[in-house]
Amino acid sequence: MKELIFFKPFFKQVLWGGTKMRTRYGYEIPGDHTGEAWVISANPHGQSIVREGIYKGLSLGQLWEEHRELFGDMEGKEFPLLVKVIDADDHLSIQVHPNDDYAFLHEHGSRGKTECWYILDCDEGADIIIGHHAGTRQELEEMIDGGRWEDLLRRFPIHKGDFFYIPSGTVHAIRKGTLLLEVQQNSDTTYRLYDYGRLQDGKPRELHLKQSKDVITCPHSRQNTCGPVSNHGTYETCTLVESQYFTVVKWNVKGQASMSQDYPFMLMDITSGKGTLDGIPVTAGDHLLVPADYGTLQIQGEMELIATHI
Ligand code: ZN
Repeated sequence: MKELIFFKPFFKQVLWGGTKMRTRYGYEIPGDHTGEAWVISANPHGQSIVREGIYKGLSLGQLWEEHRELFGDMEGKEFPLLVKVIDADDHLSIQVHPNDDYAFLHEHGSRGKTECWYILDCDEGADIIIGHHAGTRQELEEMIDGGRWEDLLRRFPIHKGDFFYIPSGTVHAIRKGTLLLEVQQNSDTTYRLYDYGRLQDGKPRELHLKQSKDVITCPHSRQNTCGPVSNHGTYETCTLVESQYFTVVKWNVKGQASMSQDYPFMLMDITSGKGTLDGIPVTAGDHLLVPADYGTLQIQGEMELIATHI
């Protein structure tokens, strides 16, 4: 008998974090600067733990090691994805991630990082940085060396429900007043390009200018990946991105829907509303794994959810 596997997040306190995860989702966050909840994580730096059921208390990493049948016996040393909720009460540093080849060569065999962001909520007037304006690599390097950040970086206004695909090599930064869901390759390889000149404990944080210049895609190519909305009567679906690393689909359920789980595994994030999944009550802020061979899932209620598979 296959069951849905719900997780308790791993929380990370950071200078730029806030309290929205407590007020919004009722999470028992460890403090008033909680910036990240690793809601579906097998990453050794912070694992999600099964909340209930026959696997209660096990980490996702343990499930991956000891119960590979839940993932359709797929191969791989590490669980491939990582899902986070991020609450930015201040600007995050401007970053870029390498691709798999660069990370393998330069970061001791680690993998690169392609990620995507779904805006759960944001302040009026909030914005985000994705990409840059340099036309050539030489221009890119000159603008970085000259600290011409306002000219270099592309800044966009954001709204609740926006989606951004951020392939490796894309300069990006989350800015103040943003609550988002991040789906990414399970990797920690990050190069910091610019940190607004801020100090932490009296010192600037380390920058990785050489690596950033190596890996930034130039010129920037804008990615608009969202497919059309399919209307199925009592629910709508929209494919936000279909990439080599993950496929992310938004479901907007208004009454009932059935979802067929045809993949080695599916990750599900309830982003708003509430209802039931095969009779089990769920609410915004729940994150779960639908294991291999689960079959068809019956969804009832009024809710939005994000479903990810590889
Ligand atoms: Zn990133």
